[in-house]
Amino acid sequence: MAEERSRNFIENEIDKDLKEGVYDHVHTRFPPEPNGYLHIGHAKSILLNYGLAKEYGGKFNLRFDDTNPTKEKSEFVESIKEDVKWLGADYEDRLFFASDYFDRMYEAAVTLIKKGLAYVSKLTADEIREYRGTLTEPGKNDPDRDRSIEENLELFEKMKAGDFADGEVTLRAKIDMASSNINMRDPIIYRVAHLSHQNTGDKWCIYPMYDFAHPLEDAFEGITHSICTLEFEDHRPLYNWVVDNVGFEMPPRQIEFAKLYLKDVVTGKRYIKKLVEDGTVDGWDDPRLVSIAGLRRRGYTPDSLRLFVELSGVSKANSVSEMPLLEYCIREDLKQKDKRIMAVLDPIRLVIDNYPEGQVEMVKGTNNPDNPELGEREIPLGRELYIEREDFMEEPPKKYFRLFPGNEVRLMNAYFVKCVSFEKDADGKISVVHCTYDPETKQGTDKEMPRKVKGTIHWVHADSAVKFTARLYENIVDEEKGVYDENGNVNVNPNSLVVMKECYAEPELKGAKAYDSFQFVRNGFFCVDAKDSKDDDIVMNRVVSLKSSFKLPVQQG
Ligand code: ATP
Ligand code: MG
Repeated sequence: MAEERSRNFIENEIDKDLKEGVYDHVHTRFPPEPNGYLHIGHAKSILLNYGLAKEYGGKFNLRFDDTNPTKEKSEFVESIKEDVKWLGADYEDRLFFASDYFDRMYEAAVTLIKKGLAYVSKLTADEIREYRGTLTEPGKNDPDRDRSIEENLELFEKMKAGDFADGEVTLRAKIDMASSNINMRDPIIYRVAHLSHQNTGDKWCIYPMYDFAHPLEDAFEGITHSICTLEFEDHRPLYNWVVDNVGFEMPPRQIEFAKLYLKDVVTGKRYIKKLVEDGTVDGWDDPRLVSIAGLRRRGYTPDSLRLFVELSGVSKANSVSEMPLLEYCIREDLKQKDKRIMAVLDPIRLVIDNYPEGQVEMVKGTNNPDNPELGEREIPLGRELYIEREDFMEEPPKKYFRLFPGNEVRLMNAYFVKCVSFEKDADGKISVVHCTYDPETKQGTDKEMPRKVKGTIHWVHADSAVKFTARLYENIVDEEKGVYDENGNVNVNPNSLVVMKECYAEPELKGAKAYDSFQFVRNGFFCVDAKDSKDDDIVMNRVVSLKSSFKLPVQQG
């Protein structure tokens, strides 16, 4: 699939660490906060972390960063586990919850206090902000900064015991109020919050801050390379300060990479939540969303996402990827894997006047010319067929090579047919096209064709057709207006979902199960909808159309 690529900067760092003996193995993790569904950006992080562990023969942890008691939900825990597994990032039995470490985090804070490196502060949130200084001015020392170790230990104990109200006191790391890095100006590491937690219940009324908790979680699990996104770069000195001062034999190191941004898509949890709540989309797994659940339901495969992550690269520089690259990746994957069958989405009847009534014959079709392993199939043909409405025109424009009165075309995999007449319904719409066929033109025989035709159209035998519903999608975002309007609402594309209720496919579609996918010739790749499809009422989502003007950029290096 992908060609040999040059090593990315994270691999270079890891190579160096292993060579210098900083670490003798590699252990990575994916640490989601269970406060929403995962999206394509998280897929990048998952595949990157898992891929590195695998590449170096190391381990990979899935860890829920559930230190924040207000937001977590078990619905999200379950969906995240499912998504990570589906992507193929096998965490085996290494599933962890940060809240299981609350006792050890508390002990780590006590260690810092005992070293004179943390103190209980009575400043209010506003005062702390005021004392912090600015980018150009140093901060001021907290009046409680030099309180004795014994007193700090006692006060911290009281914090834990619930003797203080929310916000009344905090535990601060004692670092440097004059640091040029504001994150190092005595950051808060514990706060009082009388909230129950989904995992620990009412055991705690103090909770660790992210910048303190995260490095500890990594260190407790023996993570070597803690890979995160660029916004944490300025927090790295604090990360190092925590692991160095709490004291670990082989402390983890943080490496930052640029987030994946996709142009013109909605990824913000808050916006998706709104779309779900106001019914614009059918849940977090709506096939128009780039949530992993939505992509899966749409018909994307783990292989296609892996290729996408590979092609979008790992770098320190922010960049924006485009949907057409993602679409390229799923086409590349499915064009190899899927059977190519005929299905008509907007049907009109075609009657072959000179074909014997009641007769059915089988013609041969190649399942995938690019993948001979998929073999051949037999396709029934009879007197009455369905063809696409757009494959017939009463008065064709120039260069229209499909059916029109007097014109002859090939029925894909079958015979030449010539249009002899047509019928209209009461509304003046074409309802039936009449043709005659030439028995001497059957495809797949060795006979030379008596003449040439310019057009080939696909068709489905009416009596044996499988009826189904097709859902055709466009971006949920109205790209001309941009993703969000001035009130922070998504500019929804009114054509983002078109439902075609009367579609017909070859019998091959019979028995199709959730996530099965097919290429419908000329119409695109389609996948059985996992939520709404039933055995006797199949619903197919169009994953992607066949054509694109997208060209894979020439890769550097
Ligand atoms: P929140 O704003 O709620 O924190 P989040 O997207 O950062 O949202 P997390 O659960 O904290 O959600 O993310 C888990 C991991 O996924 C983090 O390590 C984060 O750096 C990574 N991640 C999040 N978004 C992207 C992205 N767009 N590209 C690559 N990695 C990402
Ligand atoms: Mg986050």
